[in-house]
Amino acid sequence: MTYDVVVIGTGIVGSAVARDLSGCQLSVALLDARCDVGDGTSKANTAILHTGFDAKPGTLESRMVSRGYQMLSDYAQQTGIPVEHTGALLVAWDTEQLDALPTLKAKATANGYQHCEIVDAPTVYRHVPHLGDGALGGLTVPDESIICTWTTNLALATDAVNRGATLLLNHEVRTVEVGDAATTLHTSVGAVETRWVVNAAGLGADILDREFGFDRFTVTPRRGELLVYDKLARPLVDKIVLPVPSAVGKGVLVSPTIYGNVMLGPTAEDLDDRTATGTSEAGFEFLLSKGATLVPKLLSEEVTAAYAGLRAAIDHGDYLIEADPAQRYLLIGGIRSTGLTAGMAIAEYVHGLLEDVGMPLVAKPELPAPPRMPNIGEAFTRPYQDDEAIAADAAYGKIVCFCERVTAGEIRDAFASVIPPRTLEGLRRRTRAMNGRCQGFYCGAEVQALLERQDIHR
Ligand SMILES: Cc1cc2nc3c(=O)[nH]c(=O)nc-3n(C[C@H](O)[C@H](O)[C@H](O)COP(=O)(O)OP(=O)(O)OC[C@H]3O[C@@H](n4cnc5c(N)ncnc54)[C@H](O)[C@@H]3O)c2cc1C
Repeated sequence: MTYDVVVIGTGIVGSAVARDLSGCQLSVALLDARCDVGDGTSKANTAILHTGFDAKPGTLESRMVSRGYQMLSDYAQQTGIPVEHTGALLVAWDTEQLDALPTLKAKATANGYQHCEIVDAPTVYRHVPHLGDGALGGLTVPDESIICTWTTNLALATDAVNRGATLLLNHEVRTVEVGDAATTLHTSVGAVETRWVVNAAGLGADILDREFGFDRFTVTPRRGELLVYDKLARPLVDKIVLPVPSAVGKGVLVSPTIYGNVMLGPTAEDLDDRTATGTSEAGFEFLLSKGATLVPKLLSEEVTAAYAGLRAAIDHGDYLIEADPAQRYLLIGGIRSTGLTAGMAIAEYVHGLLEDVGMPLVAKPELPAPPRMPNIGEAFTRPYQDDEAIAADAAYGKIVCFCERVTAGEIRDAFASVIPPRTLEGLRRRTRAMNGRCQGFYCGAEVQALLERQDIHR
């Protein structure tokens, strides 16, 4: 068949676009090189739902982050994506940073965010009692929040499939042939025909863009390494503690996670290798030195895991989203550090661009309700805590992963879901199994056996 639209990339951005377009009377495919949705940058970020207070005013990114914050907050309520409105505190550690606070507050206002307040040092320590010595003042950002990036991605992709989109995993697009009426995507498993192509390929977006004859940007993978501290560290950090941003990015922060841990990071290091998601000794040492200043008590807590994600940084000061009606092609490039928050707003913007270039986008008369996602957030009731659920189905009372208290019922449900996991990693992102203190040392074999029993795996 020839699809009306193929969206390349099942990260948060591609999934949001596919969800939006499959709400219209179109045949839509959501395609990815990997064997699961959200297996690229969208799985390994800092997982903050940004207000956009520190964006560059007037940019498309500023607009998309601020709109995306609202859209994703609403969508999270509808679908059960876990969000905690912890708030953030930006801390000034020297007089130069202290002097920058009024400018940052004015910037927040210019970005449409009115709730920042400058606070003195005693107030900073009242907000974050375990903060290291030497803070001179701060800026509050009461609406900055933490969210589950895995559930967000999965909800958007599931919604797209429920609305009729076809999910094509393990399809790596290698070359592209634009014809008069249709475009052929030559993938690792054969040709896919489509009228329109939306390129939401993240780190690979520039390579695909060249297949359409363009040479307008280059992606530089900017690695961010992070440390995850054990749950015992959680009382040390109750809100997101931010540094004053610099030219190279948002800087190293310390934050609670939605799974009840504490996170320290990310680093920012430009690389050539688009696959370099490994962590490094230098990154580890750097983060420990930052942690020693930010929350010194963290250093006596145990690190449960370290991970890294690659931001798709580009040589352009803003998001790069452009339609080329002649080739029935739309690029979404340079979604660097804010795409988790902005994804749904980007989808809305793309919808408008496609309409502007004459694509008929007629809403389907009826749509299925948004999916209700399983809760994997620590602050909300999980199945092992839910007496009624356990009474109705004993599988919710049978713990498989003891560190994260994941039950056999949740693992069974994940395998029976609209987009089931095909790997242990995929199962971890859906349930938290093996995500805890022992990192699967105890439950790994049992979880692996459960995976091997699934037809989907073969
Ligand atoms: C360390 C770090 C911290 C971050 N913190 C935050 C945060 O706190 N808040 C926030 O809002 N954002 C944050 N971000 C940014 C956010 O994670 C990204 O902007 C977002 O995940 C980008 O999503 P995406 O869909 O564009 O890309 P991706 O998730 O990378 O998806 C692109 C997909 O395209 C596929 N693909 C690529 N090439 C091809 C091809 N040729 N054929 C088929 N498929 C292909 C890939 O396999 C991949 O699955 C952070 C990023 C990093 C790295």
